[in-house]
Amino acid sequence: MSKFKALIATQEDGKFHASIEEIEPAALPPGEVLVRVAYSSLNYKDGLAVLGKPGVIRRFPMVPGVDFAGTVVESHKEVFQPGDEVVVTGCGTSEIYWGGYAQYARLDSEFIVPLPKGMSLKQAMAVGTAGFTAMQSVMELERHGLKSGGREVVVSGAAGGVGSVAVAILGKLGYRVVASTGRPQFGLYLRGLGASDVIGREVLATPSKKPLEAERWAAGIDNVGGETLAGMLRMMAIGGSIASCGLAGGAALNTTVFPFILRGVNLLGIDSSRVPNARRREIWSRIVHDLPLDLLDSLTVTASLEKVFPLGEQILAGKIRGRVVVDVNA
Ligand code: NDP
Repeated sequence: MSKFKALIATQEDGKFHASIEEIEPAALPPGEVLVRVAYSSLNYKDGLAVLGKPGVIRRFPMVPGVDFAGTVVESHKEVFQPGDEVVVTGCGTSEIYWGGYAQYARLDSEFIVPLPKGMSLKQAMAVGTAGFTAMQSVMELERHGLKSGGREVVVSGAAGGVGSVAVAILGKLGYRVVASTGRPQFGLYLRGLGASDVIGREVLATPSKKPLEAERWAAGIDNVGGETLAGMLRMMAIGGSIASCGLAGGAALNTTVFPFILRGVNLLGIDSSRVPNARRREIWSRIVHDLPLDLLDSLTVTASLEKVFPLGEQILAGKIRGRVVVDVNA
């Protein structure tokens, strides 16, 4: 193995720096499986990491990139052999472990899953943490009783990564999906993914003094938090559930207990990073089954590693549509 390209983030005297460098293989931290990375992806969290915002990177130096897909080069665990194609989505990568913004990555086998059959490495990164979280959210809603044929399911931040994949999965599963977006210009895009209706962001996010509003949603997937999640809670139907997975609009939550004690609403927390390996494999097999690959391709663009800096700024500003695959070898 010769020198390879990696995006390295450092911090000295409190000053953050990130740039693309050629590094020696010996610089890679230890781990059971060495992977030649084909693709990574861009998630909201990646935007925070590459721009040095607090809350993601916990050790320096760090290679950000919470996701990667590639081919095993060397393995000290029997479960993976050289030549195997594998996928990693957020599992402490870019926080305490080096991630996918490099041509090689090394990680313990417990975090790695085989590339699901029927999907390319690039498509696996089009899914990435965002798509994995969308599927995980749908599975949690199902576990709490969601079935198609009832009231509508609402997805907030619908034109973003988690949102777009969630709309596509729910549409394929036969739900009536309502996409909530602050970008009405993406109405047609969202209908193309499977939304039966598109509403403006303000429908959920307008603050109200009422503890409850007319019952509307059977379930919700919330990427936004803040007033959006509070509004979603007020509009839930009896017995409905919300998968809370994001904070693109704010981390605070001002609500009352009335949705819980008068309507039996469930607020389900989604954490995609601490998912055991066996559960990760189950989620990936549902992704292959329930996410139409033509829709996945239609919501994805590809960018080179150099582009993650400007794209990181765009994702934090809520300006990215769908998913971005990062080609680390371009
Ligand atoms: P994206 O930026 O792709 O999507 C977020 C979307 O939220 C935007 O596209 C936009 O949708 C909407 N949005 C952005 N800013 C605001 C705002 N100020 N007010 C209201 N809506 C806004 O990010 P991802 O899909 O990668 O991630 C979405 C969220 O989920 C993030 O908060 C991320 O941290 C979180 N996340 C959590 C995970 C977990 O394990 N719990 C895993 C993955 C992501 P539109 O224009 O359609 O309104």
